[in-house]
Amino acid sequence: MSWTDVPPEGPCYPRAGMIEIPIELGERRYSVSIGHGLLALLPDLLGAFAGRRTVVVSNHRVWSLHGGRVEKGLRRLGPLSRVLIRDGEPHKSRATLEKVHDALLEAGLGRDGLVVAFGGGVVGDVAGFAAATYMRGVDWVLLPTTLLAMVDSSIGGKVGVNHPKAKNLLGAFHQPRAVVTDPSLLETLPARQRRSGGYEILKCGVIADRSLVRSVARAPEGLAGWSRIDMENAIASACRVKAEVVEKDEREAGLRRVLNLGHTLGHALEAATGYRRFTHGEAVGWGLVGAAWISRRRGLLAESSFDAIAAAVDRLGPRPRVSDLEPERVLETLSRDKKARGGRVPFVLPTALGRVVIRSDVEQAEIRRALKVMAAREARLD
Ligand code: NAD
Repeated sequence: MSWTDVPPEGPCYPRAGMIEIPIELGERRYSVSIGHGLLALLPDLLGAFAGRRTVVVSNHRVWSLHGGRVEKGLRRLGPLSRVLIRDGEPHKSRATLEKVHDALLEAGLGRDGLVVAFGGGVVGDVAGFAAATYMRGVDWVLLPTTLLAMVDSSIGGKVGVNHPKAKNLLGAFHQPRAVVTDPSLLETLPARQRRSGGYEILKCGVIADRSLVRSVARAPEGLAGWSRIDMENAIASACRVKAEVVEKDEREAGLRRVLNLGHTLGHALEAATGYRRFTHGEAVGWGLVGAAWISRRRGLLAESSFDAIAAAVDRLGPRPRVSDLEPERVLETLSRDKKARGGRVPFVLPTALGRVVIRSDVEQAEIRRALKVMAAREARLD
């Protein structure tokens, strides 16, 4: 029986209190199950994979904090091996990929084997790419452990590693067979990482769900101590927004570009500071403010909506400064963006809370002014 054959109303599925989001991609359909404590139910939730040889990929940090629970659940399903990778973006590399491939081979994983990724976006991207490339593709399941991975990288099947000269240069589309999201894992996540995921949640709200923007704006600062139910609902809402876009444009032919809201300027800020100053989410937070301001200035976005977006970004807490950045350096990095055409990069611009357009005519002067506005807002965060 395959995962897709699991009856939705089967004996243990869905669980009371569990949110299930189907990602409708035809024969690559899968479900994201969200709920506090779901890791304890792995044998039920992944019952369709019972008996398969499995390799769990994680990193040392995540495994030392939470590995016991996962190991216990997966062992009940079948023969299990484990490979732990080193922590951090520099290890989303070809060397790490090789290590994972070697571990799959050593474990005797066949074409009917299963790879389980247990970690944040780095572990997910590497493990998913290893699954995509091992024996021309084996099944994989994702157990995300950071807020960013829960709301972003667990949906859409983009997997890959960095090349020393370019981030995410080597990759594939390889959809997981299932995602099990247990937000209780976030209790050990450092505050900065939690905020980073918060910016991606907010981004999804600005793209297509105004009530999600309101709920981030009303949340405790930095999402610290957000109630279980609010956190689960926000994760689910963000997943739904991403799912809807991915379902219509699985391989990024067009529509999926709306998910880049805040990312055009965000990537430029990250690259201009050597990927050392901002987390990805923090850069996206600044990018959201910049894009909203460009839109406001063009008369596409009401002032009240700009204020609401900027206030919700600020609600997520402090971000590293932008006021000391050379605008020319940011502009130069933007012009090298792989999406640039004729020196111009497409910008996703909000036109209301929950609506965006894509524009390729944003002038350098507008970006310079946006950077000034961002720098001026910095004072509010001190
Ligand atoms: P990460 O995977 O590096 O995790 C951040 C830190 O948190 C790490 O130190 C990690 O060990 C630690 N951590 C993870 N879970 C924890 C927990 N529960 N408790 C305590 N510590 C924990 O970073 P990330 O922000 O999750 O992911 C970033 C990566 O995701 C980037 O490489 C980015 O390119 C990728 N990404 C991929 C997609 C996609 O569609 N595939 C989308 C967005 C981002």
